[in-house]
Amino acid sequence: CGIVGYIGQNEVQDVLLKGLEKLEYRGYDSAGIATFNDQGVHVTKVKGRIATLRDEVEASTEGTMGIGHTRWATHGAPSKVNAHPHQSTSKRFTIVHNGVIENYEDVQKEYIPDVQLQSETDTEIIVQLLEKLVEEQQDVEAAFRKAISLFKGSYAVAVMDAQNPDTIFVAKNKSPLLVGLGDDFNVVSSDSLAMLHVTNEFVELEDKEVVLVERNSVQIKKLDGTKVERDSFTAEIDE
Ligand code: GLU
Repeated sequence: CGIVGYIGQNEVQDVLLKGLEKLEYRGYDSAGIATFNDQGVHVTKVKGRIATLRDEVEASTEGTMGIGHTRWATHGAPSKVNAHPHQSTSKRFTIVHNGVIENYEDVQKEYIPDVQLQSETDTEIIVQLLEKLVEEQQDVEAAFRKAISLFKGSYAVAVMDAQNPDTIFVAKNKSPLLVGLGDDFNVVSSDSLAMLHVTNEFVELEDKEVVLVERNSVQIKKLDGTKVERDSFTAEIDE
């Protein structure tokens, strides 16, 4: 299981699918991608293999930003409905998540007791909470940091906002995640192997950091919003 996210100038579907294929060795039961283009955000997901996902993906959903996931189910049976990406009720926010949110039931009861959930996953609570917080305070980055700070457990997450074509919101705790740097693009994944087809320059992330990944910038912050500076490194690995 693992995640991948990419934002750049070129078409993204094949980049995401190749990344997911490189994550296959980690084991998974379902897979999905979400892409962003002029028409909005499009989710394609399947129970089963990445080859099946590749067959399902349509040319009309091509875009220059997207996120992808291979799922190893921990909460909710392996199924198309429980496969990631998951969306908030209004479909404004779309998420992929690797890991386990330990306190998702507590957060749901306290913050979003009236939200009608679409899946049985712990993951959906993250994106539903984000939507609720954004309704209250508008600033998506601050709401994202607040939402993430309320969760206990392990997560590597990537989130897209249908009202923002320029940013992938990323966060990490106890699940592997690193950023790959490119020329006019940036990429994130659970494993550098899933990015070597586009870059070999990486930035490591630490637990409880959030990252704003844009086409020409990567901003790392702590949960309180403090900026973090970190040098990149070049990996000398053969693909
Ligand atoms: N806990 C999440 C789920 O069951 C993510 C599992 C994973 O890491 O693939 O959907």
